[in-house]
Amino acid sequence: MSVHRESSADLVQVAPHRGQEAAIDAAETSAATTAATTAATTANELASLVVDLQARGLRVEVPIERRQGGAGPSDSGMLWVGGFPITAPTGNAAAAGSPYVLKAEDEGYAIFRAGQRLAGASTQRRPRFYDLATADGVPYWKIGLLHLDSFASTVVQTCAYWGNANQCKFCGIAVSLDSGRTIVKKSPEQLAEVACAAKELDGAVDATLTTGSSNGVDRGARYVARCAQAVKEASGLPVEIQFEPPLKLDIINEVGDLGVDSVGIHVESFDPEVLAYVAPAKARTGIDRYFEAWERAVAVFGAGQVSTYVILGMGEDPEVTLDGCRRAVDIGVFPFVVPIRPVAGSLMEDVMPPDPAYTERIYRTVASYMALRGMDSSVPKAGCARCQACSGLRSVESALRIGSSPLLQIGRRPVQVASRP
Ligand code: SF4
Repeated sequence: MSVHRESSADLVQVAPHRGQEAAIDAAETSAATTAATTAATTANELASLVVDLQARGLRVEVPIERRQGGAGPSDSGMLWVGGFPITAPTGNAAAAGSPYVLKAEDEGYAIFRAGQRLAGASTQRRPRFYDLATADGVPYWKIGLLHLDSFASTVVQTCAYWGNANQCKFCGIAVSLDSGRTIVKKSPEQLAEVACAAKELDGAVDATLTTGSSNGVDRGARYVARCAQAVKEASGLPVEIQFEPPLKLDIINEVGDLGVDSVGIHVESFDPEVLAYVAPAKARTGIDRYFEAWERAVAVFGAGQVSTYVILGMGEDPEVTLDGCRRAVDIGVFPFVVPIRPVAGSLMEDVMPPDPAYTERIYRTVASYMALRGMDSSVPKAGCARCQACSGLRSVESALRIGSSPLLQIGRRPVQVASRP
């Protein structure tokens, strides 16, 4: 039988004298400070990388799922970088000149710049449900797509503003229809069937349904809401729908009665001059009318479940933009701030994205407004503001939480990227 004998060093607790205690305290404080500083630096660097990738795009040496055409910002590759979901321009002129490249490693992928590895990355594999078709032969991928972990569809692929003087200049809603990548109108039943497959086969966690605008009193809200109801009842997924302010605000209550979780009512820019140029019909609706629609929607869906795209890099005044974001946050609206994505086939296809330093300053200030109101990217239940991949807000929020970056002063209006008539 062996007897375990502890050494005297194991047995004797040596009490440090006061000088040693102070030295130990100082060492521990220094180690904690170093760890915190390192974490903050890493979080800040990662946030800056995310913002830079979204602006400059990414060259890819491996296959990557991309979003092409559709309403709003698109034409982007979809991936996770350092754990953050992001969409970044790939395969267009901006991306071809990007200093960033996605490469395969022994296990997984990583982002490199000038040969230096910056962050691990993972890509979205081709969703399994893309290989299925409805009983009448429509491929599932023409009905809805998987944007990372969100099932997404433009339920009506036409817009009353397309092809005339009202067309939103950043939009590409008819581009994917013209190329045969989708069908003109999806039925609630089709969407429910495909959403179930996206959830079961590919792990979709929510559904984002948008629509072109109609000339009707509801601007298309009722139909997209019926689609949402069918998707939610069949799949159980939380659903966001997106529509323009209806002519009668009671329609927002009707939409709420159908079980929709979140809504996007997108003003696109708070700068009236820019809005008049890039989205003339929305400008005629007027920014004040957006606020009226948002107030009604917040009363129906709750604070943080109502969002608006705010597109940066269209020549907007940053102070006007930030003031609009602050007012929106004050009434419970989530300002989903994104850089312009030049969509091939849109009227702004040749625009270059904004300076990432400008974008990051806006993100930091908007994130700080939201923090003061207890709002962040974990609040929305569904939709673009839940996914966050098109914005750098979540990575900036994370950096602000870990570090103590001061609120940055917003500088002068950036160089005009949209040439106006
Ligand atoms: S309202 Fe504007 S952004 Fe929306 S689908 Fe129509 S043209 Fe595109």
